[in-house]
Amino acid sequence: MSSLRQPYLTSRLQGFGTNIFTEMTALAQRYDAVNLSQGFPNFDGPDLLKEAAIRAIRDGHNQYCRMTGQPELNRAIAAHQKRFYDLEFDPDLEITVTNGATEALFATFQALFEVGDEVIFFEPFYDSYRACIAMAGGVERLVTLRSPDFSYDAEELERAINPKTRAILLNTPHNPTGKVFSRSELEGIAELARRHDLLVISDEVYEHLVFEGEHLPIATLPGMRDRTITISSTGKTFSMTGWKIGYTCASEALSAAIRTAHQFITFCNSAPFQPAMAEALRIEDRFYDQLQAEYLERRDRLCAGLAEVGFGVQPPAGTYFVLADIRPLGFDDDVEFCRMLPAAVGVAAIPPTAFYVNKAAGRHLVRFAFCKTLDILDEAIDRLHGLEPARGSER
Ligand code: PMP
Ligand code: GLN
Repeated sequence: MSSLRQPYLTSRLQGFGTNIFTEMTALAQRYDAVNLSQGFPNFDGPDLLKEAAIRAIRDGHNQYCRMTGQPELNRAIAAHQKRFYDLEFDPDLEITVTNGATEALFATFQALFEVGDEVIFFEPFYDSYRACIAMAGGVERLVTLRSPDFSYDAEELERAINPKTRAILLNTPHNPTGKVFSRSELEGIAELARRHDLLVISDEVYEHLVFEGEHLPIATLPGMRDRTITISSTGKTFSMTGWKIGYTCASEALSAAIRTAHQFITFCNSAPFQPAMAEALRIEDRFYDQLQAEYLERRDRLCAGLAEVGFGVQPPAGTYFVLADIRPLGFDDDVEFCRMLPAAVGVAAIPPTAFYVNKAAGRHLVRFAFCKTLDILDEAIDRLHGLEPARGSER
């Protein structure tokens, strides 16, 4: 969020400015820094996907495809939900392919919320949530996940509900904290949703990046399937964030509404990538085990290195992000720290207060992404060893 007023921008988007990922990646490029800010892998997904996309172009998948997703991809998504979570969705009526999870979120908010409807979500939040709510004319209600364990006060969550509340927006595994919501937390949220007749929008884009505990889709809990919009993306799981293939899984009635919005936002996603991603989703379980094992190694390498440099580190239970505490190094302002870091040592990170309204809760933290090969993570740590601790630090 930027505080600069833009002359042409509508009032509902004032303050959103240029997002933090664009700003920090530009800074990383200017100083030739190791970019651990924006979360995208520095490696590609499996070759078989690339070959499948090239084949799809050659085979003539080059015109608009079905608005709700190419049938083969919808079927592959349905099979994935069944294989991993025993959730049954009708591929033609209850699954909608979107332009990444970003469009899935936007279409969902456009479709389901009246101006003035309230949405409860947790801070820190993924940055597009607030913009989606603002563009839909919704009203935000925040509940803070508090460091160091990023737990929340269940009573505070319940107190946030009022007659205008329409939905709870959830993200698990959670960006940027790495928190994986526990079964009891999800049961608590589900109980509130049932009791107050709320929808739940569940952003599960990091569903396959879990190192401790397990990913539990809230749609699997009693009474939740038909009040949940599950949103995911193939970008993280298959290391193809630029393909932007996301999707929603929701009841037929909710899907019908989301599709009405989706058809006027993008109509359909890029045609040749869809049969390719259908192949990806059919890859056997071994792929997912390997993905987890590789990310676990990256997580541990980065976390150990950051701790050696002097950051306070709690290894995340999921995602490919870690929030490191900068106070042991004598710093206490994440934005100042992240603006200084690329020029000072040649590493870029994200200041998480970009994801907080209540900035005081996140100022002492910095987000590093570990969706990078080990040599890049080692290089970042080497460079971070050159960091001069701020005055007043004990080091
Ligand atoms: N939700 C979360 C929590 C994310 O971190 C991201 C992006 N990394 C998205 C949604 C957007 O996903 P996509 O790139 O598929 O639009
Ligand atoms: N989700 C990615 C992150 O959190 C960035 C996505 C984007 O650049 N919009 O880093």
